[in-house]
Amino acid sequence: MTFATLGLIEPLLRSLETLGYQTPTPVQAQAIPAVLAGRDLMAAAQTGTGKTAGFAVPLLQLLAMEGPKVTANSVRALILVPTRELAEQVHEAVRQYAENLPLSTYAVYGGVSINPQMMKLRKGVDLLVATPGRLLDLFRQNALKFNQLQTLVLDEADRMLDLGFSEELGNIYRVLPKKRQTLLFSATFSDAIRLLAGQMLNDPLSIEVSPRNVAANTVKQWVVTVDKKRKPELFIHLLRKGKWKQVLVFAKTRNGVDALVEKLQGLGINADGIHGDKPQATRQRALDRFKASEVQILVATDVAARGLDIEDLPLVVNFDLPIVAEDYIHRIGRTGRAGSTGQAISLVCADEVNLLSAIETLTRQTLPRQVEHDFEPEHRVPDTDASGQVVKKPKKPKKPKTSSGGKRNLGKWVESGEASAPEPSIKPVRKVPVFNTGPRKRKP
Ligand code: AMP
Repeated sequence: MTFATLGLIEPLLRSLETLGYQTPTPVQAQAIPAVLAGRDLMAAAQTGTGKTAGFAVPLLQLLAMEGPKVTANSVRALILVPTRELAEQVHEAVRQYAENLPLSTYAVYGGVSINPQMMKLRKGVDLLVATPGRLLDLFRQNALKFNQLQTLVLDEADRMLDLGFSEELGNIYRVLPKKRQTLLFSATFSDAIRLLAGQMLNDPLSIEVSPRNVAANTVKQWVVTVDKKRKPELFIHLLRKGKWKQVLVFAKTRNGVDALVEKLQGLGINADGIHGDKPQATRQRALDRFKASEVQILVATDVAARGLDIEDLPLVVNFDLPIVAEDYIHRIGRTGRAGSTGQAISLVCADEVNLLSAIETLTRQTLPRQVEHDFEPEHRVPDTDASGQVVKKPKKPKKPKTSSGGKRNLGKWVESGEASAPEPSIKPVRKVPVFNTGPRKRKP
């Protein structure tokens, strides 16, 4: 199958060729004809599957072929994303796909001045990528109108709900034209997502692409068990032993990111960190330097790392396991992309056994374990398997409270994490309440 057989026009085929896309990925093969045919879409696809081109390319074709010229302060297509980084990344992809088309595109998000965004929107833009909070701010200040809107895309919808954007999504939904095409992409389909889909979509076509970490074996994953307090030491030991050249490291909290970066820099190791407390420009600079291989180790929280597109990243290290199991899939999706092989190593301490179990259940695999010589944990990490069973409780669980009904109380982890600055205070995806009653609000 080729992109031409999917019905794409020549200017788009040229852009894709320039980018080196030869064959459509499975999500593209299914989504492109459906979007071109005007269908609503509900797609289970996560980052790394090529989903961005799956919705953006046919969307650009519709904008180029159909509909009126955009008028002042209007948008014809809107792509909603959960974070600034993803907004930048999706817009960059859109810009490349639209290279040979006479269409205007732009991205708006919070954390930067609103005035230049208002100026830019004056003439109207054909395709706008936006985070929900800033989009509403712009709408309320009359910088945006939706009367010309043809298509709405909700990208990483599960993440938007995780981040507490359900109220914003509801408010946006109420001001959009009823007659429009809507495409919803989500890595997971919780009840809250289904409810959102039920409200926003009209007779959608469902597309499901197997999570790459379950289906494809391009990412070699394993766990190294260790005591919590020895994680930094173990990380440095593994870094030296493995002669790691470029590593993306995930830590649970902002403080955790800062502490590890400081430790590494103190040893003369070229490291930088990104998290939600840092200004957008600083985050972008750190990311650009990492991409350009000027920084060897980038330590990030999940929110800050969301949507990072770094090609051929050989290694991802989970310094802490993610609180939300689905984030594990997003994290390791940074490596082993487009057929290249990658490695994902998780440093796991006894406290994290329930998180490990949740990941293994979600990914339907038991992650192989290793113990490094001289780093044997004093607090043994109980055995786990993909059935969700934790064979033995840790000897000294830190906060041994369990929830009233559930097997695992991942929510407690959120609360018992660093009270000063958890990033963010999210609850496990499956426990997210329904649309409009989402967890604490947090703007990216
Ligand atoms: P996404 O899942 O949209 O974040 O895309 C993941 C990566 O795959 C990005 O670096 C894309 O540029 C790349 N990509 C998307 N579609 C294709 C394709 N058909 N062939 C090769 N690379 C692709």
